[in-house]
Amino acid sequence: MLRLAIAFCTVFLLQLSHLFGMEKNDSPYIIPPPLKNLDKKYKLRIVYFVPSDKKVKKDYRQKASVLMRVVSDVYKREIKANGFHTKGLDFEFDQNGQIIVHLVNAENKSSFYTGSPFNIDHFLNSHQQEIWEKTGFSRNRPTLVFSEAGAVAEARPIPQVYSGLACVSADALSDVVTASKIEDQIKKFHASEDITAKAASISQTSNGVIVHEIGHIFGMLHDTKDPRNIMMRGYDNLGKMYQREESKNRPVRFSKAHARMASYSRFLNEAFDEADAEAPNIEKFGIESSINGGDSSINISVRIRDNKGLGSIIIMQRGGGQIDALVADFSPDGEAVFDKNVSIKCPKPLVPNQPVIMIINVMDLNGNLSQSTIHSQVKPKE
Ligand SMILES: [Zn+2]
Repeated sequence: MLRLAIAFCTVFLLQLSHLFGMEKNDSPYIIPPPLKNLDKKYKLRIVYFVPSDKKVKKDYRQKASVLMRVVSDVYKREIKANGFHTKGLDFEFDQNGQIIVHLVNAENKSSFYTGSPFNIDHFLNSHQQEIWEKTGFSRNRPTLVFSEAGAVAEARPIPQVYSGLACVSADALSDVVTASKIEDQIKKFHASEDITAKAASISQTSNGVIVHEIGHIFGMLHDTKDPRNIMMRGYDNLGKMYQREESKNRPVRFSKAHARMASYSRFLNEAFDEADAEAPNIEKFGIESSINGGDSSINISVRIRDNKGLGSIIIMQRGGGQIDALVADFSPDGEAVFDKNVSIKCPKPLVPNQPVIMIINVMDLNGNLSQSTIHSQVKPKE
């Protein structure tokens, strides 16, 4: 009875403190929840890649864990905010429930991996090759690499095996950029007496760019329509997502089209038919008539078929004054065929001779991704 009375008093006091705004947690910041094993079959693999001429940074496990805690939180919040259901991203964990960070002590010096001059394809290929040798083939395991070889931020999806490679600079694992504790990391995102505006900016960008690169693995493309978009450079302001008040306005976000795309990927979707490994068939993706200078729209015909039903379609225009604009998106809702003539509105009027590049990404209901590209050109001036 006494215990009950005490319990009652505690509850009463808690409510009282709520009323008077005396909550224990009076921090202006949101702290993302800890990572936990979701036991999914489709997980992200984390690799720390250290060439033979570079040193392993101390506390790299804690740093990677802190970074991924933020990444995981952004995905969960933003996919949900756009109205899609997900339990979130999953990672590899050890028996103690700690996220696994595969340390790859690479065989060669940095220059071997960068190439000289630097070549991004060579960079990714040479990393991938050695990572596969040391951690196993990456089926169902898209891999995020913190590389000591060079400063890159690049991603390459390998959708046929539900995989891919996203590479960022291992500078993100240094003390100045990333904290070993999540509370300190959120503080690092904000300029203060201890943290310069420049340092805060670097910390936000380094953590945010990981969210962006992984997005490419899930089928997202760039989207310049809204500066808040993570698939633009919205991630530069990542810290705003962790300001209690500001966060309500979704100051950093995935657009609905991209959230839908990611929500169908096997990493975020909770209900898909695993037996369906057939990617959508893009039967037609082409420009029907010639494009003239001064035009501000392009007619494209699209025909796509899928054995089990289509989930999401996005079209991006590359270049054209405004780099990488998302110009169309469709939600086929499980239809087996999408057959349409689409009028694409270009972000800027087209000029004679300008190259016209259009990229379409299509995801079916079961997380199979297809891509097709149009390379064309605006007619020369007569
Ligand atoms: Zn990108």
